[in-house]
Amino acid sequence: MKAVVKTRPEPGAELMDVNVPEIKPDGVLVKVLSTSICGTDFHIYEWNQWAKQRIKNLPQIMGHELCGQVLETGSNVRHINIGDIISAETHIACGHCFQCLTGNKHICQNVKIFGVDIDGVFAEYAVVPAKNAWVIKEDIPKELISVMEPLGNAIHTVLSGEIAGQVVLITGCGPIGLMSIAVARTCGATRIIATEINHFRRELAKEVGADIVLNPIETDIVATVLKETRNLGVDVVLEMSGHPEAIDQGFKVLRPGGRYSILGIPSKPVTIDITNGIVFKYANVNGINGRLMYKTWFQTTRFLASHRLNINPIITHHFSLEEFEKGMELMRSGNCGKILLSP
Ligand SMILES: [Zn+2]
Ligand SMILES: [Zn+2]
Repeated sequence: MKAVVKTRPEPGAELMDVNVPEIKPDGVLVKVLSTSICGTDFHIYEWNQWAKQRIKNLPQIMGHELCGQVLETGSNVRHINIGDIISAETHIACGHCFQCLTGNKHICQNVKIFGVDIDGVFAEYAVVPAKNAWVIKEDIPKELISVMEPLGNAIHTVLSGEIAGQVVLITGCGPIGLMSIAVARTCGATRIIATEINHFRRELAKEVGADIVLNPIETDIVATVLKETRNLGVDVVLEMSGHPEAIDQGFKVLRPGGRYSILGIPSKPVTIDITNGIVFKYANVNGINGRLMYKTWFQTTRFLASHRLNINPIITHHFSLEEFEKGMELMRSGNCGKILLSP
């Protein structure tokens, strides 16, 4: 089968012919119908600092976001049938550590991730542990099924505190930032302010429901947000950029008693004014990792099946597996939303 493989510890990847993976008793084999490129895949492709220290097993098939159709089920699998359409939770939890046993599988201490620790899904076929296969019975297009994993990140972040009736600042409009705008809009945020340096993504932010979209390079974010909120500040900050300045601005414009949820990943340690930004502000700061297993997946499925979520504009490009390099180029430029790859 064809697969996009990270072969060497250096920038790039190769389209290769490899063996169809072998199914285990607790797994399913799927024909990949659609996948999508995530920031993580791009970091691995670029071989950045994070990838260098995180990726151990080369060669490895890249990719983790998946829509697949089940071709074969392992001998122990009872609840999944041949022909079922699945998405996949990409964090494979061990099931026996403290976190797993206390209802927090998404932060399992021994987590393995597709395309990071084990072979991924940028291929014609893939194997998925049955416990990670999310069967879709609802009428959801396959393009949206492959983006359920990042959409789950957005839903997990937006719904990790109060959102209805809130004034929200979303810093960073990559695909998950854009999805968060759409989710916050659907969930009744009354005002959504978004910041983003890339013009293409600012336009998308407007399209999916942001009320005010600001370019931090041209605009004084702190002064503008305070003016827009009559000096109160925003109720909620959703940090999606990982950029130190955006993180700092978020703390400056959060209202006292507000919520600050962070999904963006800074590449280096960041300095935060804890005294004024958190303590005296009585702020609630929470980090978001993965998706709740499987509460977030039920929510994600229901949002998509309801057709009330405006995320179609976020899917901006569609390439074949052979064209994965084009997708990576676009990721580098930032002139894209979500990029789909299909075998
Ligand atoms: Zn992802
Ligand atoms: Zn565990």
